[in-house]
Amino acid sequence: MIILPEKEIASLIGRAEAFTAVERVFASMAKGDAYNFPVVREAIGHADALYGFKSGFDRSSLALGLKSGGYWPGNADKGLTNHQSTIFLFDADTGRVKAAVGGNLLTALRTAAASAVSIRHLAPKGAKTLGMIGAGHQSTFQMRAALEQRAFERVIGWNQHPERLDRLTAVAAEAGLPFEKVSLDRLGGEADVIITITSSFDPILKDAQVTGGTHIACMGTDTVGKQEVESALVARATAFTDEVSQSLSLGECQHAAREGLISETDITPIGDVINGRHSGRTSDDELTLFDGTGVGLQDLAVAASVVELALEKGKAITVDF
Ligand code: NAD
Repeated sequence: MIILPEKEIASLIGRAEAFTAVERVFASMAKGDAYNFPVVREAIGHADALYGFKSGFDRSSLALGLKSGGYWPGNADKGLTNHQSTIFLFDADTGRVKAAVGGNLLTALRTAAASAVSIRHLAPKGAKTLGMIGAGHQSTFQMRAALEQRAFERVIGWNQHPERLDRLTAVAAEAGLPFEKVSLDRLGGEADVIITITSSFDPILKDAQVTGGTHIACMGTDTVGKQEVESALVARATAFTDEVSQSLSLGECQHAAREGLISETDITPIGDVINGRHSGRTSDDELTLFDGTGVGLQDLAVAASVVELALEKGKAITVDF
């Protein structure tokens, strides 16, 4: 089997490869070639940890496996990241283990790739202003991937603790763009593309705050109860997602669905747009929303890609297992 430690991942895979892998697997999911197995997530009653598995199989690429990991709130005091994960790939023909791959950076890359895929396929072509809500660990990955999708001219941002937005100011500066900290009213009114990437359990962005043909990528809501935007905003938008069942159960659409504002048929898998079965945005004035819930197949796709790259570059550690 091949072992790819966390510290090797950054030198092997970048945003472009992650984008391709995620776009491809979303397309496979929409065709019915790839499917996710039920997610397991448990509070283990030790170290306050939440531990679980995300897994699936893609018949077109033969990626089979799981991501195992979760959240250990005490890790920061030990000099470790609170989110920890490892991806295991298996040979779809024999069931033998193929690879163990560090999953921390890959999680950030595949999550940023998902919103970037949605921006490429759904954002207004002439989008000039990117709006960021949230300034945590994932936010810089989200922003870098988003900036590559349109000729953005500026970035505006809001965060509960505004001083944390300095990390996004630095990312904008890398891209030669101005960054401004703004109110939610200004963000909703001025941004052509909005990314929400927080761990909020209450709606941050309200329906009335968003005007015009905006594209919103809701990326933070990945658990029952979390919520980043008002359900009326979800209901007003043309909604897309990675996986419809997950969007309804634990994604941003869970609240609008529970309140009876939308139903399953109102949410389109983004893969249908990639595959040309859905036209996506139909006018510059349309409000589109991508509910990026995060699926195991994204993890398997980027892990398979990084294993391939490691083999090509002669960087794979192989052990007899
Ligand atoms: P983080 O802890 O580093 O940052 C959290 C962010 O949320 C900060 O900006 C914080 O200010 C903000 N926030 C927290 N509570 C808030 C509240 N009540 N109101 C407004 N803002 C609030 O987390 P992170 O690693 O950047 O992850 C952000 C979110 O993305 C988490 O919810 C995480 O579970 C989720 N996530 C989703 C996917 C996916 O595939 N969709 C993948 C990874 C992480």
